[in-house]
Amino acid sequence: MSEQPAPQAFDLVIFGGTGDLAMRKLVPAVYNIFKNGGMPGDSRLIAVARTELDLDAFHALLDSDAQKHVHPDLFDPETWATFLTRVDFVRIDLMDCDSYSALGERLNARPDNSRLYYLSTGPRLFGAICNNLRANGLINADSRVAVEKPLGHDRESANEINDLIADAFEESQIFRIDHYLGKEPVQNLIALRFGNSLFEPLWRRGRIRDVQITVAEELGIGRRGDFYDRTGALRDMVQNHLLQLLCIIAMEPPLSVDGDSIRDEKLKVLRSLRPMTPERVANNTVRGQYVSGSVGEEEAPGYLEENGVDSDSHTETFVAIKTSIDNWRWAGVPFYLRTGKRMQTKVSEIVITFDSLPHSIFPDQVAKNAVNRLVIQLQPVESIKLHILSKKPGDALALKPVMLDLDLSQSYNANYINAYQRLLVDLVAGKQALFMRRDEQDAAWAWIDPIINTWRTHGVAPKPYRVGSWGPAASGGLLGRRGLSWHEETL
Ligand code: NAP
Repeated sequence: MSEQPAPQAFDLVIFGGTGDLAMRKLVPAVYNIFKNGGMPGDSRLIAVARTELDLDAFHALLDSDAQKHVHPDLFDPETWATFLTRVDFVRIDLMDCDSYSALGERLNARPDNSRLYYLSTGPRLFGAICNNLRANGLINADSRVAVEKPLGHDRESANEINDLIADAFEESQIFRIDHYLGKEPVQNLIALRFGNSLFEPLWRRGRIRDVQITVAEELGIGRRGDFYDRTGALRDMVQNHLLQLLCIIAMEPPLSVDGDSIRDEKLKVLRSLRPMTPERVANNTVRGQYVSGSVGEEEAPGYLEENGVDSDSHTETFVAIKTSIDNWRWAGVPFYLRTGKRMQTKVSEIVITFDSLPHSIFPDQVAKNAVNRLVIQLQPVESIKLHILSKKPGDALALKPVMLDLDLSQSYNANYINAYQRLLVDLVAGKQALFMRRDEQDAAWAWIDPIINTWRTHGVAPKPYRVGSWGPAASGGLLGRRGLSWHEETL
């Protein structure tokens, strides 16, 4: 989980090396790792794609499309130029087994380097890539494979893809990416929970009133209309990111920070989620779809007017869910999950609200209404803040809310390190704690599938919500039944 020099030289092969993810996230992250001395010996980055490019043209593409995504404070032209000497490009049609010999030649020239394969293509290619790597003898005991989401669109299709990957790689060699787990505050949450005695007695029913996880985006679906219309918010965000965050909050203390200990505990949480019967889906989920409206000064089209979207699409761009974890620690504590596109503001946060005082001795209303909250924000800034009440200086026992900053990332410039960088460092080091294991992913789909099926069989159409709002009003209703509200709306 920590930034440290890689133990041995490696070749990191990015399949989909000309793609959007490679340019915006992966290559800048590898540059930062290189700059930090994390590419020992003759380690290389080998990008693979179909486009006809020679090495100079690929380097020029990196200059124009990837370099601008390196944080300006970390960019150094000389280091970038040296970094490029470690970057190779191989043109392959990934469906064509014979064309992998070109990659084999490059890899076999440095037989001692460990081989790290990063699948940054659409998932329909994952099976072919793994199979062709195996057929070309390019997988050895030192090899690892990282796979991007989405891994399937339901439990069955995820199993099919996982079976294909498992035909070529052992589970201990497979690193399923959920980049939310690479974010600093998520790792800091693990440190806060298990490195301090302070929170332990509070982390349970009877102390925590409710937990909210929100991932709200201001943007719409951009140029991903075709993909998004087949996917929707539940599969795109809840099945992976939101459930993984829920697991980190709710898991029991793991035996250690090693991969399987953490993942064993996360799996127990997923298996303790209250199953979604059709009745619970009807009462505890809200589907939404944005309609045109304005964000600030700008008018934005509705979902059905976006490119690549069916004009009568029922795909949800918003989902809110109330769920419970049926175990001793969490019985009776509601967990609220919410994600949407074209929302009022971009914010990803986990809000843990503690129980209110049994009785307030203070006369003012601020004190009477106040609750303590731990707010872990992942976007737009990474932070962890504890909301408490303190005395207003000067005034006689008048109280005011204050926020204690529990996160030193600003002081350490940790915000410069993106989640992909942390995950790639762990991939190089072979640490699996922050990657999803197959049984976890299967348990997540097992919980999500009944929601998808009920929406489909009962013809649950998404409720419209205006661009720039917080989603359909019914989402507030999920909390309103208990006299609660979403955190942003109470600020
Ligand atoms: P993209 O921009 O469409 O790039 C796809 C890449 O795959 C290109 O480099 C393309 O090479 C290559 N490719 C496709 N078919 C190929 C073939 N038959 N042979 C060789 N190369 C082939 O996709 P992306 O946005 O980077 O996303 C990659 C993966 O990451 C997807 O699974 C996506 O769902 C996931 N993901 C992306 C993001 C993101 O922010 N972009 C975030 C999370 C997850 P050519 O250009 O040469 O055809």
